[in-house]
Amino acid sequence: MGERLDGRTVLEKLIAFDTTSARSNLPLIEWVRDYLAGWGIESRLVHDASGEKANLFATLAGGDRDGGIVLSGHSDVVPVAGQDWTSDPFTLVERDGLLFGRGTADMKGFIALALSRVPDLVAAEPKIPIHLALSFDEEVGCIGVPHLLEQIGRALPQPAVAIIGEPTSMRVVDAHKGICALRTTVTGLEAHSSRQHKSVSAVVAAAALISEIGRIVGELRATKRHEGFDPPYTTFNIGRIDGGTAVNIVPRRCVFDWEFRPVPAVAFDDVLGRVEAYAEAALLPPMREIFPGAAITTEVLAQAPPLVPSDDSPAFALAMRLTGANRTHAVSFAAEAGHFQGAGMSAVICGPGDIAQAHQPDEFISMEQLDAGGAFLDGLIRWAVEDGRLKPGG
Ligand SMILES: [Zn+2]
Repeated sequence: MGERLDGRTVLEKLIAFDTTSARSNLPLIEWVRDYLAGWGIESRLVHDASGEKANLFATLAGGDRDGGIVLSGHSDVVPVAGQDWTSDPFTLVERDGLLFGRGTADMKGFIALALSRVPDLVAAEPKIPIHLALSFDEEVGCIGVPHLLEQIGRALPQPAVAIIGEPTSMRVVDAHKGICALRTTVTGLEAHSSRQHKSVSAVVAAAALISEIGRIVGELRATKRHEGFDPPYTTFNIGRIDGGTAVNIVPRRCVFDWEFRPVPAVAFDDVLGRVEAYAEAALLPPMREIFPGAAITTEVLAQAPPLVPSDDSPAFALAMRLTGANRTHAVSFAAEAGHFQGAGMSAVICGPGDIAQAHQPDEFISMEQLDAGGAFLDGLIRWAVEDGRLKPGG
């Protein structure tokens, strides 16, 4: 038998692992694996190519088979560098009913609660399987969880419902925006600036393309709105631009990093395909008349699909029942729920803590939220034992 630990105690242990995305998450994953093994639960790890990071999947109760619920969380946290913290970010500290530490809200609080309920689950014999999935590298573009989801329905069972415990203050979130992060590289022809007619400016082409990106997203803003998001439309950002060497040299190269965050009705290709088509049709022909080697290439750095709301979602129905909520919410941050949905699961986001605390110095979760998250999981276990039938709709 393992040791019975309450949610706060597990959280204290999880916070002590510095799982900033740039570092290995294996010490945390191995601690979880050993903890679960203490309760007779086998963990399956899905590593990245380097072997330095891993997702963890475990069936906590109800049998190693398809169906049931997967409780999902990301193990990584954002950096604390440059932030002014009152106490050590990797030591859980309580002040006035608030628990401080990096990852308390986003989102080790939910993971800690799920782990603290393992003894109850082991004793409970639920009618459906309850699984746990922990990912890595969520904070750098949801790039860890696809490795895990590739194995779902193959080496790993296929859950029916995914509950992603990102901090929503226990509100039920059935829609989130996607994110697509890109790097565009423009190659022109360098020359002295007096020889404009024999040169191709990469910076001028990049500026035209950026202006077109703004125009395309502006059009989508007007035509594809999704009330409930703040703001209720697709947004974009040009985050970095680098090009040229001197005022009297026509620049040969310009690179800019950009992103857009689509509402569910906007497909990635609605933006990317149109940007590439514009480059090909409007920008490159005149550039290539002067310099055949002119090029505009766009590389996808990271992408996470939006979570698309659905009226007949069993995840939505279950979360509404367990929280007693009478409405759902949409959030503008990207999360892994869209990935889980893409892997054939009905997905919903519902977890303790306030998103306003995420990524902040002195990040905290209140004891009250931790208790609310615990009550949600206790309700889930009771339901799984007594009922366990997933129903569509809300
Ligand atoms: Zn998060």
